[in-house]
Amino acid sequence: MNAKVHPLTRPLILEASSRFVPKPFKVYTQRDLDQIAPLAKLPAEQRFEMKVVSSVLPFRVNQYVIDELIDWSRVPDDPIFQLTFPQRGMLAPEHYERVAALLADGADKTAVEAAVAAVRHELNPHPADQMEMNMPRDEHGNRLEGMQHKYRETVLFFPSQGQTCHSYCSFCFRWAQFVGDKELKIASSEAGTLHAYLRAHPEVTDVLFTGGDPMVMKTRHLREYLEPLLAPEFEHVRTIRIGTKALSFWPFRFLGAEDAEELMMLLERLVAGGKHVALMAHYNHWKELETGPAQAAVKRVRATGAVIRGQGPLIAHINDDPAVWARLWQTQVRLGIVPYYMFVERDTGARNYFEVPLVRAWEIYRDAMQRVSGLGRTARGPSMSASPGKVEIQGVTEVAGEKVFVLRFIQGRNPDWVQRPFFAKYDEQATWLNHLKPAFGDEKWFWEDEYAAMRDDS
Ligand SMILES: *Cc1c(COP(=O)(O)O)cnc(C)c1O
Ligand code: SF4
Repeated sequence: MNAKVHPLTRPLILEASSRFVPKPFKVYTQRDLDQIAPLAKLPAEQRFEMKVVSSVLPFRVNQYVIDELIDWSRVPDDPIFQLTFPQRGMLAPEHYERVAALLADGADKTAVEAAVAAVRHELNPHPADQMEMNMPRDEHGNRLEGMQHKYRETVLFFPSQGQTCHSYCSFCFRWAQFVGDKELKIASSEAGTLHAYLRAHPEVTDVLFTGGDPMVMKTRHLREYLEPLLAPEFEHVRTIRIGTKALSFWPFRFLGAEDAEELMMLLERLVAGGKHVALMAHYNHWKELETGPAQAAVKRVRATGAVIRGQGPLIAHINDDPAVWARLWQTQVRLGIVPYYMFVERDTGARNYFEVPLVRAWEIYRDAMQRVSGLGRTARGPSMSASPGKVEIQGVTEVAGEKVFVLRFIQGRNPDWVQRPFFAKYDEQATWLNHLKPAFGDEKWFWEDEYAAMRDDS
């Protein structure tokens, strides 16, 4: 090992890790709902509703989230309860009734499974043509599973061992990956495939490991993917990003649990080898950052030289309030996390329950921005990860007497689209890009023909 560690980082790491004795990782799924102690105090009806919803949508929560993050005196309104526990409104009434009727009648397993499969089929697991349009190909034209290459600089990689999370977010659009439907899965087990692709694509500067949560992986697996990137042939890959919610859902991953020490050394080696290493940390609420372990984990990761950037979606019932975002960004800045993105929630099965109109999303973003200093204003958004690109709502204004949304691409399938303002007719109800119409009587978006041609080619 050739780790060059700055002399100051060692004592910090030791200090942070010695204060927390890791707890064993204990997790509950749909089958274990009855064993979650604080749930016993809820009305039977509400527990039945959870059972119905979690038959369809993935449910998984660990003891740390239950004990440290949820304020049970505020259930069901507690934001972390909403973030992790199933709620009746997450299913359309018709879907809910179909499954509830079977469960209430004690229908046999096959009947329930068939109904559940049918409901899942009617939900939309892969928004934005994710399956079709972004799957890169090798030099023989074969599709490479487990990868997406949508924006020139950045390749997304889904390590197959990272297709789960320490707890599941109730709104998560990745649910198709968790419910074991083979056909719907986007995953890869091949470090070799990734490395070959990166070798062949010198235009790629960033690789983003995502999931699920790659931090559920053993460090030695992560190392197989990451360490080879230090070789001179991958010099063009300057940035290694790892998307994770483990800093929130299981901070002990960084504090002595399992192979935490090896993970810290791996991050240090990547940094020492000249890479920019960024944990793209998913946070929805400042409460996730208030616990001792959460703050110690942040400190410890930062001591490796890796940067933590905070991002997360705006979700009704969880964080649709400017005060929550302002405090989240302020807390992040205080802990040395760089606020990065506020996302608009994309099309998921449970979307109606969680969705926030675009105009409201923009108001929340604006009001939160106005409450923080410049260091908190590095978060861009509200941003929709739509098929043509990441589209940011810059604001609502009036141009030549017409009320409009001002939009811009933060990322585009064609880099030329990025940073060009464009306009949509104001629409109070719209919750996604496809609900919007071009303003000023235009027939089409400026990017529409080009995008259609890309679609036809894929
Ligand atoms: C967001 C995203 C990226 C990264 O975009 P940045 O603006 O560089 O953070 C890359 N690929 C896909 C598919 C994305 O959605
Ligand atoms: S941590 Fe991310 S991938 Fe995992 S359930 Fe939450 S949103 Fe989905």
